[in-house]
Amino acid sequence: RVNIKRISTGVRSLDELLNGGVETSAVTEVAGEFGAGKTQFCHQLAVMVQLPEDKGGLSAKAIYIDTENTFRPERIAQIARARGLDPDQALKNIYYARAYSSDHQMILAEQARRIIKQDNVKLLVVDSIVAHFRAEFPGRENLAERQQKLNKHIADLLKIADAYDVAVVVTNQVMAQPDVFFGNPLKPAGGNVLAHGATYRIWLRKSKENIRIAKIFDSPYHPEREATFKITEEGLTD
Ligand code: ADP
Ligand code: MG
Repeated sequence: RVNIKRISTGVRSLDELLNGGVETSAVTEVAGEFGAGKTQFCHQLAVMVQLPEDKGGLSAKAIYIDTENTFRPERIAQIARARGLDPDQALKNIYYARAYSSDHQMILAEQARRIIKQDNVKLLVVDSIVAHFRAEFPGRENLAERQQKLNKHIADLLKIADAYDVAVVVTNQVMAQPDVFFGNPLKPAGGNVLAHGATYRIWLRKSKENIRIAKIFDSPYHPEREATFKITEEGLTD
């Protein structure tokens, strides 16, 4: 990890929380409830990575693996315009694939690796990483198989991040748990596999209206700080 670069989130408070932005050669997990802004965060980064370095980007392309059918080209166009990029070009710089099952998702990760070998890609998004796994392997009786598959998938993603100096960003839905987690009775899905697989974990939660709060969790290196941001027409903003 000598060559680490950062992709600015485009939000000062979030960049401060992340010591400058989302890191390459690392897997960053974005967890939160429905509507917390996980998908918006991914859209924003898919644009930000394209900016030149003096504007916080890496002059590079993105790959977007969409498991929930929530990718919106028009949203990319809006964010791109707000950042001074040509919307059509910004969309062309995103390799997009919809994953229809957990197996398909794992195949797409392998295809992503091949694209990354050949093209200037510095961001790989998987939104969301666990949805298919949870749907296909429900309940305790399937837990072992689910975790084993998820473990393999995350290991593949970590290898890609490491081998090609790419920032991997995965989203994770939260589910109700009886115990209290950060004063919030919710916990990220995926359990220990993600806890050990992700290099950084960001927790997003809703505040009033379009205001959101981000926090780093499970990190021995980051202080327990919080960052506040907004979701607007322009994307994520301070
Ligand atoms: P999650 O992926 O965590 O479920 P999303 O990233 O989809 O959540 O965030 C949804 C939020 O983003 C909603 O509150 C919605 O109002 C806001 N949002 C989406 N598009 C826009 C937009 N064009 N302008 C302003 N807010 C938007
Ligand atoms: Mg989403």
